Amino acid sequence: MTSKHSKPPKRKSGSRRQTTAEIPAMLTPPTVQLQRERHRVELFAEITLKIRQSLQLKEILRTIVTEVQQVLQADRVLIYQVLPDGTGTPISEAVLPEYPAILGMEFPEEVFPLDYQQLYAKGRVRAISDVSDPTAEVADCLVEFVEQFGVKAKLIVPILHSLSVHPPRSNPPKNAIWGLLIAHQCDRPRKWVDFELELMQQLADQISIALAQGELWGQLEEVVAERTAELQAVNSSLQQEINDRKQVEIALRQSEEQLRLITNALPVLIAYVDDQECYQFNNQAYANWLGQPLSSIHGSQMRQVWGEDCYRRMQPHINTALAGKVVTYENEIILQDGSTRSVSINYIPHIDNDDAAPQPIRERVSGFFALTSDISDRKAIERMKDEFISVVSHELRTPLTSLHSALKILATGRLGTLPKDGQQLLSIADDNTERLVRLVNSVLDLQRIESGAVTMEKQVCNATDLMIQAVDAMQAMAQQHGITLVNQHLDLKLWVDADYIVQALTNLISNAIKFSAPGKTVWLTVSAPLDVLFQVRDEGQGIPDNKLESIFERFQQVDSSDSRKKGGTGLGLTICRKIIEQHEGKIWVDSSLGVGSIFSFTLPLYES
Ligand code: ADP
Repeated sequence: MTSKHSKPPKRKSGSRRQTTAEIPAMLTPPTVQLQRERHRVELFAEITLKIRQSLQLKEILRTIVTEVQQVLQADRVLIYQVLPDGTGTPISEAVLPEYPAILGMEFPEEVFPLDYQQLYAKGRVRAISDVSDPTAEVADCLVEFVEQFGVKAKLIVPILHSLSVHPPRSNPPKNAIWGLLIAHQCDRPRKWVDFELELMQQLADQISIALAQGELWGQLEEVVAERTAELQAVNSSLQQEINDRKQVEIALRQSEEQLRLITNALPVLIAYVDDQECYQFNNQAYANWLGQPLSSIHGSQMRQVWGEDCYRRMQPHINTALAGKVVTYENEIILQDGSTRSVSINYIPHIDNDDAAPQPIRERVSGFFALTSDISDRKAIERMKDEFISVVSHELRTPLTSLHSALKILATGRLGTLPKDGQQLLSIADDNTERLVRLVNSVLDLQRIESGAVTMEKQVCNATDLMIQAVDAMQAMAQQHGITLVNQHLDLKLWVDADYIVQALTNLISNAIKFSAPGKTVWLTVSAPLDVLFQVRDEGQGIPDNKLESIFERFQQVDSSDSRKKGGTGLGLTICRKIIEQHEGKIWVDSSLGVGSIFSFTLPLYES
């Protein structure tokens, strides 16, 4: 046994208080006993309250030893904690000044052997009135201890873990001994009375409860610490997210600002319209051009911005864009200042890909971009050019016709026979005049169709009749070139301008003859898979792939010498396309070099 004190000091005279607890119960009158009982209850209630008020075990133990020491008028009261290895140490002590303190001393295992521990674990209470009495059965080691500290009588109550309310997994097993609540009497032997035993036992139970509370408190603190750490982590990740979002917002604002700067600087009118036909964005040029403040356009409906008349013309194109197709069209617009402007409008659908949506509705049109260009100036120039061509062509046509007639008369020889050289020159002049007449006529035709000066006189026609007319017109040319013309008959009703459709067919047949070698065949067919489909097929030289589109443009020929060699103008297919488009049809060519070509065009079927 280790000890810091060797001899217990002598009690000072008069230092001991006389209390009711000291008077043996059988000698005390009933009133004193009652008083003592009341005092015990009060004391117990007071100590319990203090325990409940405090969560600090150290403070609770301190309160208990102090109070017990005073109530029992014991010389020393201590709480001895039994450590897992069997050793132990007093962790709280109230001792009269004349006796040595043993707080913090370390006691070896032998002071509190295992068999003692087991007995105490079962709740055994030991009240030793006189430690020197051999019947008291004080262990050898304890005898030495009690002598060293001058202990004469002692009362020992076990403090168990058994009262732990919710024992955690790591806790000691039930009924394990945690420690001992011990009262010492050092100045004399002392007979401990029931009241004292009960008080000590009840307080030991309170310590057990306090221990359980302490454990719970510890667990609670652990949980709180864990939760706090978790919340801190969540908090810091939220903070990070907020910071990231702020950065994104700043970047977005900057890029929006840049976009606005760019779009405002562009000479094109740019706008974004949502699927409710509401303006969500437009550049400054758009507002300036419309003569409306920027703020009045944003959020407004297209109908409001453009006015009823104009909107009606736009509506089919808006519907097409909202159906997901790119649209380009021209429109005439009356601005707020009353001026009329021509515009070319482009609608580009904005298709949203909603990956979360089921497949058929994954792609949805959430609006469209509207690019509008003012083409009034270009239109004015085009009009001037058309007028110029028209006037010049008219002015050319009259002298050309008389020139052509004069040459024809000369060629008959009625006015005298020319020498061979002269006849040759006359023939060249005649050929070229004819070409010039054709060119002027084609230019005039095209100009009239394009300028809208001609309206198609549509009526119900039979496909076979149109084909017969075209073949009849081209028969002579075919014979001249040694080409066989094959015509298919099929009675289909069409709503077309017969003259123009025959013109288109003759143009195509004429080309097919021109570009086929003698002895070949040209087929003219009609069918109605959906719309009416006319086809002119030849076995001619064919057209290279890179020219299949361009030959429909003005003055475009596969070989620039074609105009001279074949007598073409490069306007025939352009006129054909214009005619077919005026009938809401389409024209195209499929060809293979050295094999032949198929020119096809569609026209809507007439349904009565
Ligand atoms: P052109 O008066 O020169 O025939 P077109 O506009 O009718 O003018 O035709 C343009 C060009 O397309 C022709 O010059 C020719 O190069 C090519 N082309 C048209 N039809 C055929 C065809 N059936 N076979 C081969 N080339 C053709």
